[in-house]
Amino acid sequence: MKIQFLGTSAAEGVPSVFCECDNCKLIRSLGEKEYRTRAQVMIDDCLSIDFPPDAYYHSLKFGVNYSKLKYILATHSHMDHFYAHDFILRGYKFAYSFEPCLEIYGNEEVKKVFDECTARELKEEVKANLKVDVLKPYEVINVGQYKVITLPANHSKAEEALLYYVESAGKGYLHFYDTAQLEDEVFAFLKNNGVHVNLVCFDCTFVERTGGKTARHMGIPDNMLMKQKLADYGIIDDKTKIVISHFSHNGCPTREKLKEIEKQYGVIAAFDGLIINM
Ligand SMILES: [Zn+2]
Ligand SMILES: [Zn+2]
Ligand SMILES: [Zn+2]
Repeated sequence: MKIQFLGTSAAEGVPSVFCECDNCKLIRSLGEKEYRTRAQVMIDDCLSIDFPPDAYYHSLKFGVNYSKLKYILATHSHMDHFYAHDFILRGYKFAYSFEPCLEIYGNEEVKKVFDECTARELKEEVKANLKVDVLKPYEVINVGQYKVITLPANHSKAEEALLYYVESAGKGYLHFYDTAQLEDEVFAFLKNNGVHVNLVCFDCTFVERTGGKTARHMGIPDNMLMKQKLADYGIIDDKTKIVISHFSHNGCPTREKLKEIEKQYGVIAAFDGLIINM
């Protein structure tokens, strides 16, 4: 499995789109290598977790070929994770020679946002190339060659945001964002389904700060609690790679600062373009 972290910021980007705080000033002064775009993780070049407003830019910057994209697993409908306007361009005079059907999976709200964003401009012939499937938490399904498990995120009262476990050829990837700390039933479900994770990526929006139990996101102290839970339930072991991502400008996520966190906590801080093969 090839896991490619295409976008590693929280909703506002790093630096933040309309911001001139000290963190954003510093990030801008350090230049492009410190910039982070909105959340997207590509698996084996054919399955994308989320499709943010920066997805098109990711294809240019990292040479990702979306004509080969077959599946999208949308975590939830927030704008930094699901930018549905782009789908009107998948056919008609805008695109030729691509995978015959793009299957988009997400919750009810993702389906609603898809319908809203494509209501004006989606041609019938383009619609025929797209399929939207609604998922609930705790489903175990096959998506092409992948086994996928959906879990409930602790993120939004307005919708059932989803977390995903994706498995292929005996390797497992666990995608834990956007979410705050999770309840035991989530870990129990993974354990009961015999899940063993080789790579987990945590929401680390708050960087070194904790979000506590009530926040919609996590920081590294929360990540460590969730890591311990995963270990207690036997879902991860010493060889499992722990990645952190989805950083906010408020935590000033410079490479230098994250290097310290990597050393202290034994994690890998994602950056835009990071590839991990497993
Ligand atoms: Zn987000
Ligand atoms: Zn800022
Ligand atoms: Zn969100």
